[in-house]
Amino acid sequence: MAAKRDYYEVLGLQKGASDDEIKRAYRQMAKKYHPDINKEPGAEEKFKEINEAYEVLSDPNKKARYDQFGFEDPTGGFGGQGGFGGQGGFSGFGGFDDIINSFFGGGRRQSNGPRQGDDVEKQMTITFEEAVFGCKKKIRLSVDEECIQCGGSGAASKNDIKTCTKCNGRGRVYIRQQTIFGTSTVESVCPDCRGKGKTVTKKCPECNGTGRVRKTKDVEITIPAGIQTGMSLRMEGYGQSGYNGGMPGDLYIQFNVQEHPNFKRNGQDIILEIPLSVAQAALGDTINVPTIDGPVDLKIPAGTQPGTKLRLKGRGTKNPKGGSGRGDQYVICNVLVPTSLSQEEKKLYEQLKATEKTEKKSPWDKFVNGFKNLFK
Ligand SMILES: [Zn+2]
Ligand SMILES: [Zn+2]
Repeated sequence: MAAKRDYYEVLGLQKGASDDEIKRAYRQMAKKYHPDINKEPGAEEKFKEINEAYEVLSDPNKKARYDQFGFEDPTGGFGGQGGFGGQGGFSGFGGFDDIINSFFGGGRRQSNGPRQGDDVEKQMTITFEEAVFGCKKKIRLSVDEECIQCGGSGAASKNDIKTCTKCNGRGRVYIRQQTIFGTSTVESVCPDCRGKGKTVTKKCPECNGTGRVRKTKDVEITIPAGIQTGMSLRMEGYGQSGYNGGMPGDLYIQFNVQEHPNFKRNGQDIILEIPLSVAQAALGDTINVPTIDGPVDLKIPAGTQPGTKLRLKGRGTKNPKGGSGRGDQYVICNVLVPTSLSQEEKKLYEQLKATEKTEKKSPWDKFVNGFKNLFK
C-alpha cells in the first residue's frame, strides 16, 4: 500500500489552515474530482482521498488529534478506515449535488433542499499606496440570483409544476451499474427532474425556466491597510445566491499590489535603499529619510559601511488581519564613490590621499603591510 499523503497536502493546504480554507479547498477539489464529473483515470481514488482528508480536518476533535499525532494516533483514530464514502465503496457515492448538500447545505440530502450558492473569485490590482494605507473600492459583479417572478421554480405559474413521473417526486432513482466487482444498484439523482422531484410544463418567461437571472451589482469593498500581493479578502454572502432558500456563496478578492519605485515590502516591513557619499558614511550625518508617514530624521553613525541596515521602528505597515502594531522600515545604506569631482572636491580628495600616505593608514597600506615578510 502506498504511503498515505498528509491530509493538508491532499487538499492543497498548509498546516494550520483555517476552517474556512479547509471548507473552501474541499469544495473546489470535490467539484473537480467527483466521479460524476471527472472521468479521468485515478479521479475516483483522488476523490476518496479528498473526502477522507476533509472528514478528518472538518471535525474539530479529529483535526486536533491529527495535528498532534498525524497518522500515528495512539487512540487508534483514523488508520486506514475510509472516510466519507468508505463504507459503501465507490459505488456508494451519491450524486454530486448530494455530496455538496450533505456537507454544505445544512445536512439535508435531498437535491431540492436548500443549497448554498457558489463562491465568486475576483482578482484586483491596487497601487502601493492603496495597499499600505487601505482604501475603499467599488467592484462590479455579475451574479446569478433567484428569479423573482417564479421564485426559482422556473415555471410560468404554479399549475405548470408537475410531479416528475420518472422518480414519482422522489428526485432520486435507482440505476443498475456494471462495476469491476459485478453489477450493483446505485441510487442517483433523477435525470429528468435533476433531483427536484418536479418537472415544469411551461417555462417562466423571465428566466427561461432556469429559475435564475443574471444581475449586475456594485459592491463597495473596504481594503484593510497592509494588504500584500497574494492575500485575499473574503466577503461573506456576496457570491452567487443560494438555491431553494440556501445561503449565498462568498466573494473572494485576491490582490496584486503594484510595486513602488523605491519602497519595497517584506511582509509588514518596508525596505528603502538610500545613497550616501563617502564623506557622509565616514563622518556620519543626520538625514531626512522618506517613510510612508513622510520624512523622518535618521542618524547615520560615523563609519557606516556599504550595505549597513538601519531600522526605523514602527514605520512599516499595519497588519491587515488586525492588531495595532506596525512593521518597521529598514534603510539600506549604499555608499557611492564619486565618478566625477569638482575642482574643490578633487583638491580635498588629493589632500586626503596625501594625509593617508604620510600617516600610513590607508586601507591599502594596511593591506600591503601584511605581505612584508614575503617581500624581504
Ligand atoms: Zn423565473
Ligand atoms: Zn424525477
